[in-house]
Amino acid sequence: MKDVPNTGQGCRNAPILKERGQREVFCGLTSIIWLHRKMQDAFFLVVGSRTCAHLLQSAAGVMIFAEPRFGTAILEETDLAGMADAQDELDREVGRLLERRGDIRQLFLVGSCPSEVIKLDLEKAAERLSARHGPHVRVINFSGSGIETTFTEGEDACLAAMVPGLPETQDRQLMLVGALPDVVQDQALDLLDRLGVGPVTVLPSARADDPVAVGPNAVFALTQPFLGDTHAALVRRGARHIAAPFPFGEQGTTAWLRAVADEFGVSDEKFAEVTDAPRARARRAVAQAAEALENRSVFFFPDSQLEIPLARFLTRECGMTAIEVGAPFIHKDLVGPDMDLMAEGPVFSEGQDVDLQLDRVHDAKPDLTVCGLGLANPLEAEGLTTKWAIELVFTPVHFYEQAGDLAGLFSRPLRRRDLLKLEAAE
Ligand code: SF4
Repeated sequence: MKDVPNTGQGCRNAPILKERGQREVFCGLTSIIWLHRKMQDAFFLVVGSRTCAHLLQSAAGVMIFAEPRFGTAILEETDLAGMADAQDELDREVGRLLERRGDIRQLFLVGSCPSEVIKLDLEKAAERLSARHGPHVRVINFSGSGIETTFTEGEDACLAAMVPGLPETQDRQLMLVGALPDVVQDQALDLLDRLGVGPVTVLPSARADDPVAVGPNAVFALTQPFLGDTHAALVRRGARHIAAPFPFGEQGTTAWLRAVADEFGVSDEKFAEVTDAPRARARRAVAQAAEALENRSVFFFPDSQLEIPLARFLTRECGMTAIEVGAPFIHKDLVGPDMDLMAEGPVFSEGQDVDLQLDRVHDAKPDLTVCGLGLANPLEAEGLTTKWAIELVFTPVHFYEQAGDLAGLFSRPLRRRDLLKLEAAE
């Protein structure tokens, strides 16, 4: 990497504290909230209980005003007790839905804890329903179950399930992998276009008919660090991963673009011509937003799987010190390049034993704790300043133009706490 010097030994080989205990995270169904916005002709049918329906409806309440692209096929108690044939019921439900909604081209059957408990075979159901409703509608299944998962795994499971059905191509092309807000995706595509990198496709694409294909001459770059299964599925189809730090902050974006540019033989001059101005803008924006972060400490609870790239951003670009960086899973093929850029020092932990981790955060008393919603309120009540990890997934934070906003997401809670202290002192 030519533009981002490494200042330390890097953390790729740092010891990792592995924990297996009680976890405090949302389940994978949560990712439907952003996936349904990306895929314009898809429908997500959650095969679950009323609890699953409530989660979706309360988390995505805003959707009430739009034509919904998700719903729940409720498993009743009779289904759960094995007294009814849930497969027949599912066929009827899907038939009714598709009759009503001719715009649906991809139907995702999303598994849940209840469907897994009764061992409802959604793979078989997807095959049967694809045969019945194809080729107009493709039916794909994945699991959003909360057993042993975290909420971003829903997107990973969804994209990984799409990969086997992608058409084969021998063409040399770049696939951008990960659901980004449209505005951010457009910025990324524009930068790549101006660098002369192409053709570029995106997974997930907006429509089922978009020409997304995969094959031995395809390369792919991930935009989200939680796509381990999708990475494996694409590699199985012969595509090659361009390993790079994730495009958070000015340095992460530059390193990510540089790795892609090197793959496509872009000259240093061209790279500088395209990136110099947005890099300078991003640096200025980060510097302004990061004033409140300088010399402060941060502690990450495992939640979104964005933790390692964000810790790299906060420590390298915002002057923070990371005490602990907890992640649900540490997949070094994906986050290794970010770990390479981090100075030694933080504890890396994988998985969670929430009580032990709470003991550690109490001892460390960090200036900022990044954690799930369930932990944030009690920690705030104890006087710790927190940032909800889930907000980072719902807010546009990738690439140059969002770098300042990303720093601002972390500095806002600290500024608020500083103001409250000031007011209390007056
Ligand atoms: S999938 Fe499991 S964890 Fe998620 S809402 Fe349904 S029952 Fe709850």
